[in-house]
Amino acid sequence: MRVAVLSDIHANLAALDAVLAAVPSVDEVWQLGDIVGYGPDPDEVVGRLREIDARGVRGNHDAAAIGGLGIESFNVDARRAMEWTRAVLSDDTKAWLRALPERLELEALTLVHGSPRDPIWEYVTTGPVARAGIAAMPTASGLNGHTHVPIAYLVEDGRLETMSPGSGSRLVFEGRRALLNPGSVGQPRDGIPTASWLLLDTDAGAATWQRTSYDVASVQAHMERLGLPERLVARLAYGL
Ligand code: ZN
Repeated sequence: MRVAVLSDIHANLAALDAVLAAVPSVDEVWQLGDIVGYGPDPDEVVGRLREIDARGVRGNHDAAAIGGLGIESFNVDARRAMEWTRAVLSDDTKAWLRALPERLELEALTLVHGSPRDPIWEYVTTGPVARAGIAAMPTASGLNGHTHVPIAYLVEDGRLETMSPGSGSRLVFEGRRALLNPGSVGQPRDGIPTASWLLLDTDAGAATWQRTSYDVASVQAHMERLGLPERLVARLAYGL
């Protein structure tokens, strides 16, 4: 099966639509949570994912948006954006978000937002956390997001390998235990402002990371009109 894997779209419809236009023929689109939060188009992004029958899981921002998670631990900008998101989300969108699972197994892969052992909150940013997450997976390999940075962790014969993929990087993970992060569609944080995502061939056990340009300035202008926090507007141009 060929799958486009998207994560951390964060209510950025322009980025999502640019990615969907760039996706070649695939069987399914999977998403790894944080569909809403930060960005200006939460209902529209959920609407688009529903149109294309995307399958996936809930992130911490999605949980916060439906009141399933407090926002005391969010930083001040994330909290302001979440208060705005909560105020504008339609009941229909909230019901759809509420139905998302925290974990999903598809095609022998585990899908989570954060980490396999703590799907909502844990950030996989170090080797030991990656190793623990990989050990906690019921499947050999899995997909996660949350950090907004594309990365792959692989374990073979007890050795942990890390790969920082660039645009077009291909990885054959078949036969190894792997945790793959596509990076973020709507708010990349690896210093590159283009939307980051993953093309997966589940039969070959292969993944190719992709970057897609979108009109960042128009999203920034849209966010400014809505009064969303200035720092969240600015960071889209830097990919940080
Ligand atoms: Zn996120």
